[in-house]
Formats: sequence, structure tokens, C-alpha cells
Amino acid sequence: MSKTRTDRKSSTRPASQEDTPRLTLSFMTSAPDLASCPADEAPEVAFAGRSNAGKSSVLNRLSGSRQTAKVSKTPGRTQLLNFFSVRDGGGAVDDGRLVDLPGYGYAKAGRKEQARWQAAVNEYLSHRDNLVALVLVMDIRHPLQAYDLEVIEWATASQLPMLILLNKADKLKYGIRQRTLKTVSGQLQNRPLVRIIAFSAVTGLGLPELLDFLRNRLTPEKPD
Ligand code: GDP
Repeated sequence: MSKTRTDRKSSTRPASQEDTPRLTLSFMTSAPDLASCPADEAPEVAFAGRSNAGKSSVLNRLSGSRQTAKVSKTPGRTQLLNFFSVRDGGGAVDDGRLVDLPGYGYAKAGRKEQARWQAAVNEYLSHRDNLVALVLVMDIRHPLQAYDLEVIEWATASQLPMLILLNKADKLKYGIRQRTLKTVSGQLQNRPLVRIIAFSAVTGLGLPELLDFLRNRLTPEKPD
């Protein structure tokens, strides 16, 4: 992860009731490496996270379909970058994509295998010109593991906007959840492009904020 990014969009729109309808995600293709990715002609937001943090559940919650991320879980595809086109019935996104990156720390994978696909992820993150933002999914009970910190450092150095989802928030009582949110936010202060929210793929907590983030990032800026 090396290249520094500049000139990212900084505009934001407030979350609102109209933003709550889901996105339609259609599986496009899988790629083992950067060279095999589809043409970089549409803005992309990548989803990263440790294996089992709930990345697939978040994508399914986004689309309202349990089938969406199933494709990323099918044998042979777990180690690939999986591309989804985004449609936003009557909404803001014309032509965007979400990219489900391979989960880090997949227990059944050998070290060599893991190193190979992490290299593919690093190459994608470093050189994909149409990457406009990152969503990092963490288990709220185990936040800021080594891989998470690596991704956060890279995104900060690259000036890439990032939304961190502290997922599985439904597993914690309100007080502990808020404390964790405060602690993680404190550890990541002075990073204006990083936003952190409590999320639950089960209850939908945080979904309007996630949808709003994606719509803001995937919508091309209108000329004045
Ligand atoms: P992935 O490996 O990151 O894609 O993780 P999955 O989406 O497969 O989720 C791993 C496990 O966590 C599954 O058993 C999910 O049902 C569960 N899970 C995911 N998100 C949530 C959540 O928000 N709340 C709860 N309680 N369980 C979740």
C-alpha cells in the first residue's frame, strides 16, 4: 500500500428519511488480482475486514437480500475481489460499484495462501484509480486488530475517505457500545477522513449513515 491519493471529494449530505431505501447490488465478476479487475470506468467503494467481522452480512443488509454476498462465500471465490454494480432506484447513484475484498485471517487458509491474496488486496488498494472510499467492517467486541490498523494507516496516508463500522453492536448493551465507540474514536482522532459508527447487520442500526456515505462517495460531483 504505497501510493498517496489526493483531490478526494469532501462534500457530504446529511442523512435523511429519503436516503433509507436500499441499494440494488448485482454481482458483476470476480478478480484474483488488479490486472483482472474490470475496466476502472466507474467509481468504486471497497469493503474490507477481518474474516467473520460480518462483511457479507453488511452487504446483504445493504441490498436487503441474503443472496447478495453469497457469491463471495462460494468456494473458490473467498480469495477473490468480488465486484457488484450498484443501482439506486430513483436515487443518487448512476453508475457505481462495491468491491468485496477477501476477508483477512480466514482460519482455513494457509499462511502462504493468505499472503498471496493479501498481496492482491494491497495491490488493488494502492493502484486502483477509481477507488473513491473504503468501508472497514470490524467486530465491535474486537476492534482495531493489526490488519484493521494497517488498512486505516494506509487510507489516512492516501487521503481516502473511510467509514468504519463497529458491527455486531446488537451484541453489546447500550452503555458498553457507546463506551467502545468513544474509545475507538479517541484512538483515531485527528483523522478527518475517518468516520466511525456503531452498526448492526442484524438490526439495521447505522444503515442510513452507511447508505448516505455510499451515495455521497459514488455520486459524481455535479459541475457548478
Ligand atoms: P464475514 O466473514 O466478515 O463475511 O462475516 P459474516 O457476514 O459471514 O458473519 C459472520 C458471523 O457473524 C455470522 O454468523 C453472522 O450471522 C454473524 N453476524 C454478522 N453481522 C452480525 C451482526 O450485526 N450482529 C450479530 N449478532 N451477528 C452478526
